[in-house]
This record gives sequence, structure tokens and C-alpha cells, in this order.
Amino acid sequence: MASNNKFFVGGNWKCNGTKDSISKLVSDLNSAMLEADVAKVDTGFPQKVVSLISQNVVVAPPFVYIDQVKNSLTDRIEISAQNSWVGKGGAFTGEISVEQLKDTGCKWVILGHSERRHVIGEDDQFIGKKAAYALSEGLGVIACIGEKLEEREAGKTFDVCFQQLKAFADAVPSWDNVVVAYEPVWAIGTGKVATPVQAQEVHAACRDWLKNNISAEVASKTRIIYGGSVNGGNCAELAKQEDIDGFLVGGASLKGPEFATIINSVT
Ligand code: PGA
Repeated sequence: MASNNKFFVGGNWKCNGTKDSISKLVSDLNSAMLEADVAKVDTGFPQKVVSLISQNVVVAPPFVYIDQVKNSLTDRIEISAQNSWVGKGGAFTGEISVEQLKDTGCKWVILGHSERRHVIGEDDQFIGKKAAYALSEGLGVIACIGEKLEEREAGKTFDVCFQQLKAFADAVPSWDNVVVAYEPVWAIGTGKVATPVQAQEVHAACRDWLKNNISAEVASKTRIIYGGSVNGGNCAELAKQEDIDGFLVGGASLKGPEFATIINSVT
């Protein structure tokens, strides 16, 4: 990463876990943080601790486990929801409101994830409205964008990403509390990670888009994180890229020690 921004690592647990498996994951994450504290005492101020202090770490459990995680996880890791309702709560069967998320201690919400776009069918405008509402109520938004394989093969990667960015830009009054997650759909859950060069190319183009369409300040301050098959083995090379300001991690965030490696990947 190049900017002075805090490196941002999010763990998206998706629709996975049980009370037991989540309790184990939380205890692994808590001890990963404690180990870093011990390292600090032993060696002064090692890179590992520097990175823990200088970054945001967030996990997004399934709704029903948010309370369990909030009550057992170190407060150095913030909680995100995986989705939120588009407006104030009420007669919306099956939905969870932003107010309820705040009540359970969430600080963030992931919006526009490809699984919500392409499996559930949410469109750009609906996602934009959700982002605007969540921000107006004080939640941070992890705004996901990314192209499908056929769109990449047709040379439409930038068009798709810019269109999705524009839908967010048209809806949100401020970018202060927004983290952009570039997640190529073909890389999500497939084991086919974007190469550092591929990811950097899109991140740089998105930063340029923000500069040209919002402002130079928003472009430099907004974190653009990468998601799609990030793991303990590929995170360090990706983290070295100039415009990669962190990660959104799915599968590998379900393994505490591996997620800790990714948290500490910033150089
Ligand atoms: P993955 O998922 O790391 O399992 O590819 C990333 C995501 O969907 O956010």
C-alpha cells in the first residue's frame, strides 16, 4: 500500500459456522492478538505489532452469531454485518435494520457483495440506497464491486467496476466512512486469485476514477481493498502493491491462524 491510510482487513464469514465453531474461531483470533502482545514485550516493537496497531481488522459473522462474537472477541477487532435493510426497520419480514445492527455493536456493513448481486439479485440502485442509509446512521460501509469472468474476457472489467462505483457515488453524500472492496467474481471462492498485477491495475483505475469523478482527496483517502481467494500464501505479494490497502477475505477468514497471517501481511 502507498497511502498513509490504515491497512484494512475484513473477514467475511458468509453463511458459515455454528456456536461451537465460532467460539473456537474467536478464541484463535483472541490468542493471535495476545501472541502479538507477547512479541512486543519480548522484542520491543516488531513489525507484527506495528501492523496490528496500524490497521483496522473487522469480522462479519452471520447475523445470528453477532452477539456471541461481540461478547467474546477482543475489542481490537470490530464487527461488521454482511448486509442491512435499505431503510428504517418495521414490517420487512426476514430483514435486519441498521438500527438493530448498531444495537448489537456493529460498526460496519458489507454491501454489494457479488453473492448479493448475482445470487440474490440486488441491483446497483438498491445497493446504493442501502449504502446511503447505513452511512447516514453512522455505520461504515464496505462497498463491493467487481466483474464476472465473461465481463473480464470481453474487456469490460473497468466499465463494470466504474458503473458499480458510480452507483455508490450517486447515492452516498460522503466517502469518509466507505471502504471499496474490489472483488472479481471469478476469484471469489474459486482458489483463482487475481495476480498482483491484475489486482493493482484495477485498484489504480478505481482510484483514478475517484479522483476524476469525486476528488483527489477522496481518491487518496479511500481504502481500496482486494477480495477473492486471498490466503496466507498469496497475501504478502498482493499487500505490496501500491493501490492495495487491505483485503476482504472469505474462506481463509474461517481459519484463525491463517487470518492472523493475512492481518499481518502488510509490509
Ligand atoms: P474468498 O471470498 O476469500 O473465499 O474468495 C471473498 C469474499 O467473498 O469476500
